[in-house]
Amino acid sequence: MVSRSARGRPLIHGLTSACTALLDQLSRTIGQHPRRVTATVTALLLTGGGGAFAVASLGPDPAELPVSMMNYPVPSLAEDLVLGQFDAPGFSLFRSEQVRSSDTPESLLQRLGVADPAAAAFLRSDATVRQNMLGRSGRSVSAETTDDHRLIRLTVRWVPDGSGSFRRLIVERNCEQFGTRVENASLTASSRLAGGVIHSSLFAATDAANIPDAVAVQVAELFSGNIDFRRSLRKGDRFSVVYETLQADGEPLGTGRVLSAEFINDGKTHQAIWFQEPGAAKGAYYTPDGQSMRRAYLSSPVEFSRVTSGFAMRLHPILKTWRAHLGIDFAAPTGTAVRSVGDGVVAFAGVQNGYGNVVFVKHRNQHVTVYAHLSRIDVRPGQSIEQGQTLGAVGATGWATGPHLHFEFRVNGHYQDPTSIVAASGTAAPVSAAARPAFDRLAANMRVQLSAAALLAQASAD
Ligand SMILES: [Zn+2]
Repeated sequence: MVSRSARGRPLIHGLTSACTALLDQLSRTIGQHPRRVTATVTALLLTGGGGAFAVASLGPDPAELPVSMMNYPVPSLAEDLVLGQFDAPGFSLFRSEQVRSSDTPESLLQRLGVADPAAAAFLRSDATVRQNMLGRSGRSVSAETTDDHRLIRLTVRWVPDGSGSFRRLIVERNCEQFGTRVENASLTASSRLAGGVIHSSLFAATDAANIPDAVAVQVAELFSGNIDFRRSLRKGDRFSVVYETLQADGEPLGTGRVLSAEFINDGKTHQAIWFQEPGAAKGAYYTPDGQSMRRAYLSSPVEFSRVTSGFAMRLHPILKTWRAHLGIDFAAPTGTAVRSVGDGVVAFAGVQNGYGNVVFVKHRNQHVTVYAHLSRIDVRPGQSIEQGQTLGAVGATGWATGPHLHFEFRVNGHYQDPTSIVAASGTAAPVSAAARPAFDRLAANMRVQLSAAALLAQASAD
């Protein structure tokens, strides 16, 4: 994958026998000629990425194109320093990859373009490396090597659960010895505009626009009260989205929140803006006129995802109507997370004839939701549960012919049509009068960004 270095680096190469002498000399030179040493030229060699530098480009994200980087010295106009002292034309090579679960030190180094048995031996023997790199599938790892492919520095970066910072494990060669250290550093967030047109499915469109799944899912979830993404998408529907991307040392290391989004479904425009009231613990999505998009109930107990998007909510195959069946089935693979559609308290969690493993959640206003045929139950009776919290997983326990979630909605003990649950749930409070001026400024700004994203999507489609 990628390799970008945000900083210029001192010229450290030729890590051979004269290592100590070279470092010595280098530090003296830096002292005497600081400007000379920083006069390095950075060449980015992009493959297959014409015009990919615009942040808002709808082509491939430049951050995801294969890139290699070289730092090399440029002869100075001044004659008083001979750059040959640094063994020019040596240069550093940078390359990045992702750790695979099957990786050995050798296979990883090979993908990184490192040919260095001593480095491989060190990676295998060091406890910090074993704990934080080997077997840690998906972690970003980059290597800086000499022009003869010996390792200078190896850096592994990852984000510990839900924190705003990342960890950096550095393996560094220092005069034929390797050392390791682990550092903490802050992630930097920036926003990206993107947009697309639906031809077949939401994920096909977001793939085409190079939008990560995590963003596609957020878009589908935040408009789920307005649009049924499983059944109501039309060819020609359009969307625009502004979302955060997180970087560690200039390398992409994850996706943050959707900041605003627009979805035009069947000619009707829906817009959402993320806003956090001053002093509020959490932010929420609002329409541009300040109405909350948060409802007391989610429209689906199964998250929209690449796995579940192909499975439409269905009526019972034999009984045909929800009324005869008293619930609605969501076909999804065994193990798919099942979530509570609203805040409440677990009234029952266990086995019941027919239902198999089943959870009952009691909400306000004598509302109860039921989740049946679970393969796994993650909650206990009496436990408070939040909207969206996982309570178990899809299965085929009880009277089920195949894996699916059987879902019911009851009011005062009477069965209701589960598709009416969103309509039955009121919305949360709108933006407060005090926060209104700040919200209006944000909304105006977001409208401009969404229009820009829409224009870009249009331009790339033409
Ligand atoms: Zn059912």
